[in-house]
Amino acid sequence: MPCRPEARPGFCLDHAGVKAWLQERDPEVLQDLWSEADRVRKSHVGDEVHLRGLIEVSSHCIRHCLYCGLRAPSIGLERYRMDPAEILACAQEATRLGYGSVVLQGGEDPGLTRDFIAVVVRAIKRDTPLAITLSLGERSDGDLRAWRKAGADRYLLRFETSDPVLYRRIHPDLPGIPSDRLAQLMRMRDMGYEIGTGVMVGIPGQTWDALAFDILRFRDFDIDMIGVGPFLPSPRTPLGGPDAGAYLAPPDDQVPNDELTTLKTLALTRLACPDANIPSTTALATLDRERGRELALLRGANVVMPNVTPLPYRARYEIYPGKACVNETATACQGCLEGRIHRLGRRIGRGPGSRNKTLCKDLTACDFHH
Ligand code: SAH
Repeated sequence: MPCRPEARPGFCLDHAGVKAWLQERDPEVLQDLWSEADRVRKSHVGDEVHLRGLIEVSSHCIRHCLYCGLRAPSIGLERYRMDPAEILACAQEATRLGYGSVVLQGGEDPGLTRDFIAVVVRAIKRDTPLAITLSLGERSDGDLRAWRKAGADRYLLRFETSDPVLYRRIHPDLPGIPSDRLAQLMRMRDMGYEIGTGVMVGIPGQTWDALAFDILRFRDFDIDMIGVGPFLPSPRTPLGGPDAGAYLAPPDDQVPNDELTTLKTLALTRLACPDANIPSTTALATLDRERGRELALLRGANVVMPNVTPLPYRARYEIYPGKACVNETATACQGCLEGRIHRLGRRIGRGPGSRNKTLCKDLTACDFHH
């Protein structure tokens, strides 16, 4: 989409403009990006930070994704699948902690059958006021419709990268079923789900051009929720093993998987999608335990997803090693996060925290939005 002539000087978010910002390294120049992202966040989604309780329901997975520690070929993992009563108890804990929604996330696990998830969703809807987000990978339209009918409100499915060649390399198809996550997202939107997606920053083989396209794609598909976190190598996977170097793009093209690049991606995502819900991700908090959560909230994010998975399972949901907060109880996580949010002068959002599509309150931000 061409940049409109009246766009704010310096914030022309066409492909070249986004790429130039992504590659900017001068801290003084970047101050403009940080303050613009924070301003747009404040004017479109306000000071409330919504908390979503994350329940990691299963670590079984049939996929062979080259980036994820839960991939089917990973050995030495003690796999688990929570039972419906355990999942419901986590949802009740989330309610007790004051969270307005829960996210049921897992590997792509056929053991999480259509009926299993429908029963769980109905029970949570019956017993709690929570909004429910599912994040269970690529599933049939029959499953997705049944879960929506049972009461699921939202679905998270990251497209991981908009580069089709890189995507096919890192996310092999299931035999005979071409993976098309964007198509699934669009079908889910038609079913009435709020849709979430996102990418990893610094995947081996990811170029600056591709990352700039990712951000434009969030905007062009009018995504409701967008998660952006650094790629963190897992030694259980090809992209984190001894041969990982073979997957890298040439040095000038390869996006680094560092905090600064992740924060630039997040800030630009906020500018491109002013009213989206954007989390401060656990992956970023894992890279920078001291300041990762806060820096994301200061540079565009308005959501945090505290983990409410029972501790014995949490360490076993090892997408990547060294995950932040892996040994903190749900109550400790809540106290820690609420403290961090209040110290930033922000408020905890109550209620489900759905996307609130804004009309153009803020014309300068909207110049490059449309
Ligand atoms: N099975 C579900 C949920 C996967 S976990 C699905 O495929 O959608 C959720 C997200 O974690 C993934 O979409 C991916 O973006 C991220 N992730 C996986 N492996 C990662 C890694 N090594 N580093 C950083 N993020 C990772």
